[in-house]
Amino acid sequence: MNQRTGKGLSFAKRMYPPRAIGTGLGFFCVLIGLWPLQPAWWVWTLLGLHGFVWPHLAYQIARRSRQPFVAEQRNLVFDGFAGGCWAGAMGLNPLPSVIILSMIAMDKIAAGGWHMLVKTVIAQVLGIALGLWLYAPPLFPPTTQAQMLACLPILLIYPMAIGLICYQVTVQLGQHKRALARLSQTDSLTGLINHGAWKDLLTREFQRCRRADQASVLALIDIDHFKQINDVHGHLMGDDILRTLSALLPTHLRKTDLVARYGGDEFCVMLPGAGLAQAEEILERLRQAVECYRHPDLPEQRLSLSIGIAAYGAHQLSADGWLHEADMALYQAKSAGRNRVVVARSQPSAA
Ligand code: GH3
Ligand code: MG
Repeated sequence: MNQRTGKGLSFAKRMYPPRAIGTGLGFFCVLIGLWPLQPAWWVWTLLGLHGFVWPHLAYQIARRSRQPFVAEQRNLVFDGFAGGCWAGAMGLNPLPSVIILSMIAMDKIAAGGWHMLVKTVIAQVLGIALGLWLYAPPLFPPTTQAQMLACLPILLIYPMAIGLICYQVTVQLGQHKRALARLSQTDSLTGLINHGAWKDLLTREFQRCRRADQASVLALIDIDHFKQINDVHGHLMGDDILRTLSALLPTHLRKTDLVARYGGDEFCVMLPGAGLAQAEEILERLRQAVECYRHPDLPEQRLSLSIGIAAYGAHQLSADGWLHEADMALYQAKSAGRNRVVVARSQPSAA
């Protein structure tokens, strides 16, 4: 994936608000910390630029970079360096320095783990050294009441902002995880449940029937002479027919029935709680509906389904055994001339 549009850019976007909040609040903390030292005008200018211009500049740098992820990582390290400079310039005034350095370390560890923290700490140490060297302030001046009060906003607001951002990321991750899980269970052509998810579902239904001794019917459906449709009208038209039939199937079933694409031109339906006679009636109606259906682009083309059905029975040893019975019934439907519903023979009489 292109880093400019993918992971890198979203990373830079994610870092933008906490940086803007942190430098904005940190500005007041450093301002009061530096105040007793009466710094030159260019120090105030630098502080203002860092507090209110840097976050926007950093975002633009990352956004315009060919590698936003790398650029944003550089920005994060620079945050540590700049924070270190201010702590050094304040002569490591205990409270504002610790707050600034720890807040910077907190969001860096949240952004890039231990690896980023180590880089940040090194940058902070270098920044402190530069601040001390350039400005040569008295070391460790006691924190005044005013300086303590100026530190309260960043102390209160910044951790909450980071917490909120982490929470939003967690919620998004959860959404993505659910979307991925849905996608992994969905057939991409038809939007129906796919083969893997269907096998899980079949096993669960088999176990449920066995536990509660409940009725349930399984049907395997195969489109007749589908290969011919592909050969004559092309695979794209074949795909379209598969999609159209997939949308048609559920409309002739009950709300509780489950339809899946077993693979190729084969579908499977689970009719939980249905007796064999009821299921046969439902699937016969479905077969007739497909027989009468005409695709708008191929009004001459007749479609038909062969359907094999098997009810759950205590004699079945596994879900595969149940599926095998439905498969045998489907095979018989094909052998007997197609376009019909066949009930698995090994079943006792219809329910
Ligand atoms: P039968 O009546 O015996 O079922 O004959 P059939 O031609 O339908 O034979 P079969 O079911 O064995 O063939 C299924 C065909 O479905 C073969 C394959 O080309 C086609 N097919 C499988 N998956 C797809 C798909 O995703 N799209 C399209 N267009 N065709 C598919
Ligand atoms: Mg077929």
